[in-house]
Amino acid sequence: MSTSEPVWFTSAVTDGSTERRRAAPAAAAGAGTLLQLLRDGVPRTRSELSALTGLARSTVTGRVDALLAAGLIAPSGETASTGGRPPATFAFNPAAKIALGADLGATHARLAVTDLAGNVLTAVNADLEIALGPEAVLDLVVEHGRKLLDEVGRPVRDLLGIGIGLPGPVEHSTGRAVNPPIMPGWDGFDVPSYVRQRIPVPVLVDNDVNIMALGEHFTAWPEYEHLLFIKAATGIGCGIIAGGQVYRGAQGAAGDMGHIRVAGADDAHCRCGNTGCLEAVASGAAIAAKLTAEGIPAGGSLDVVELARSGSVPALRRVRQAGRDIGEVLAGAVNFFNPSIIVIGGSLALAGDHLIAGVREVIYQRSLPLATRHLRIAAARTGESSGAIGAGVMVIEHALDPARLDAGTGALKPTSHKTNG
Ligand SMILES: [Zn+2]
Repeated sequence: MSTSEPVWFTSAVTDGSTERRRAAPAAAAGAGTLLQLLRDGVPRTRSELSALTGLARSTVTGRVDALLAAGLIAPSGETASTGGRPPATFAFNPAAKIALGADLGATHARLAVTDLAGNVLTAVNADLEIALGPEAVLDLVVEHGRKLLDEVGRPVRDLLGIGIGLPGPVEHSTGRAVNPPIMPGWDGFDVPSYVRQRIPVPVLVDNDVNIMALGEHFTAWPEYEHLLFIKAATGIGCGIIAGGQVYRGAQGAAGDMGHIRVAGADDAHCRCGNTGCLEAVASGAAIAAKLTAEGIPAGGSLDVVELARSGSVPALRRVRQAGRDIGEVLAGAVNFFNPSIIVIGGSLALAGDHLIAGVREVIYQRSLPLATRHLRIAAARTGESSGAIGAGVMVIEHALDPARLDAGTGALKPTSHKTNG
């Protein structure tokens, strides 16, 4: 799919740069473009919309009517006026529709229903073995999804779509997993059509790191257009937000940084068959193995976190070194991609400041001054919901894509759902 230029529409985002990004070519401004303007939540009059888009008042009126009929905007009162009838204002109506996001891990899933502003209306965690195969897992996703819809009292016709994140490589355009190492039976499986047969709405699929990046960006860092999200957990991956959109690369493999070579780590054997991979030296699994070999038993990422939090010096030292190793690979990425922020998340990031301190140490030392002058390196803020929220956001951005709406498809169909205006 091609997502449009997404506009992150938390009401806090009203600075000039965002406003500039919203200003689309006036000639092409359709109802979708108008909606994009209003997604910041600020109520506007027809005159203001006309001035912002350069469209004639009559054209704006027609497009406002279409958005009102679809429920995507709602009247939001009248502005103060010195005399005569005050002009009506209109605002984005996030309650018009909902999205369902599912973040599937190796052994558990988190599902969330959000409104169009990405607010979580309800969510559930479930134990779910991805290795059970696609039918069994997706049947459970559908079952939990239906329950969540019931909980919020919304029918399927209010559902814009379903977003699903999988713990392995995904070809986003077809929604199929590609040779996923921990997902027996999933290779090439047509996830969207299987789910659509059970809940007839658009279904979009991506890998777990990309949806986490999207959820984290949308929720916590909407003002940063170029973001790298690092998931440091049992494995290590990176989600790339470029120009406000997920960057996936030609085959969807962009950001797979876990198998980039780290200097001096040639004796570390990786599960991919190579040696010296970042994942083989700096992942939660790799640190746990090293600690165990040192006589400090650790079963995995979470044990490492627990040891670090309890002040185990060997664990803290290993976590800090993992941060440096991650930083070494990222230093090259910083020079190459020039992100405005790097967000460190995943279970290993719960070990505290030592991971991020190691990352900072190497990046600021090894990257070019111009690339690091304004670079921020921060811990993830969204927590365990980032993936499920991001999966929902993927659906919202797709459905509210201005080009799609301007073409008269997507969410711009009259709805029976009452607006909250
Ligand atoms: Zn590898």
